[in-house]
Amino acid sequence: MLFDSGHLRGYVSCKVLDEIHHHPVSDSPSVLSLPAPVDVVDSFPLKNHKKAEATENGAQCYICLAEYEEGETIRVLPCCHEYHMPCIDKWLKEIHGVCPICRGDVCEGIAEAFT
Ligand SMILES: [Zn+2]
Ligand SMILES: [Zn+2]
Repeated sequence: MLFDSGHLRGYVSCKVLDEIHHHPVSDSPSVLSLPAPVDVVDSFPLKNHKKAEATENGAQCYICLAEYEEGETIRVLPCCHEYHMPCIDKWLKEIHGVCPICRGDVCEGIAEAFT
């Protein structure tokens, strides 16, 4: 009703690709990292963003640098960092399986949780 989500989603994913191409992961060239398994990424919790719950400094997706909009789907990583689902899914599944903010390996916590 209120959201033209199809349009928004297309815009977001284009922007992510753009970001990824403009920021090759070159600041740590010695670190070889692989994408995370799709199953692992899909197992991370999702939530809908609510502006009322946003933190003081403004909830912002570190990948596309856009502020979260009401009702957008947010993925929460084991390290408690949050991103747009389309942004972080693309990052983790296609680029590398670490949190873009803290560079924690998202597979590590999961391996423990599964044992
Ligand atoms: Zn984003
Ligand atoms: Zn993190």
